[in-house]
Amino acid sequence: MDKRKPYQLVSREWKPEDTVITLNGVEIGKELMLAAGPCTVENEEQVFTITEFLAKQHVRFLRGGAYKPRSSPYSFQGLKTEGLHLLRKAADKFGMAVVSEVMSSDKVDELCEYADILQVGTRNMQNYPLLRALGKINKPVLLKRGMSSTVEEWMLAAEYVLVGGNERVILCERGIRTFDTATRNTLDLGAVALVKQLSHLPVIVDPSQGTGNRNLVAPLSLAAIAAGADGLIVEVHNQPEKALSDGEQSLYFDQFTDMMQSLIQQSALRNKHFDFQKPRLTEAETTA
Ligand code: PEP
Ligand code: MN
Repeated sequence: MDKRKPYQLVSREWKPEDTVITLNGVEIGKELMLAAGPCTVENEEQVFTITEFLAKQHVRFLRGGAYKPRSSPYSFQGLKTEGLHLLRKAADKFGMAVVSEVMSSDKVDELCEYADILQVGTRNMQNYPLLRALGKINKPVLLKRGMSSTVEEWMLAAEYVLVGGNERVILCERGIRTFDTATRNTLDLGAVALVKQLSHLPVIVDPSQGTGNRNLVAPLSLAAIAAGADGLIVEVHNQPEKALSDGEQSLYFDQFTDMMQSLIQQSALRNKHFDFQKPRLTEAETTA
């Protein structure tokens, strides 16, 4: 055991080569991944409209919350099982993989039934029973950084999942709380560059929660890729002004397609390509 660092299995010293997680025809960690979708699943029409739009852009990962951790108990809490069902139905129709949040250990089995990647939200990064439960599953985990967590605490949270036996963890920087409230959070791209050196795990960025402002999502997505991120998870909505959560940070469809064009250029500078640049999926790939 390396005594210099409190975490082991997630470290580069333990495993020098990048971890690659293959899902839905994408080698995450080698290729760049783009996950997109609404903050929250609201109804069938909304989720199918957004999924069809994304599939036409060759996006392969559909995000959407069914269990929502809201600051206020009076805010919409998500459609729960019904939301997961709608996400799965839409994703299957268009050959996409589902990313959705699991809020507690008693819901891990249900999320495993419907989702392909289980997201741990910022508020749950240090929910140790949940992390332990996710160490036992056979699906990748998207581990968001706690909004007030240090990089070391974040790495230790990932260590909980790896030590349980699940090595498929994708880290996600989503902004931290600082003195400045001009943006919803302060997106810490320095941490992204650092964690790429400290750990072999893929690191992606959520510029939607990271800024709280749809007009900042494209510039910070480009910056994230330049800083070495392995991909992005962004919120997009067919009617952002009517969204039941996070409408102000959700991209309009035309903003999303513009951003994709810029991302192609940015990724070329790193000599990498985005998953959406590959040809459409074959049947065999969608089940991989
Ligand atoms: C989200 O992805 O909608 C979300 C709630 O994320 P976070 O946990 O980063 O706030
Ligand atoms: Mn959100």
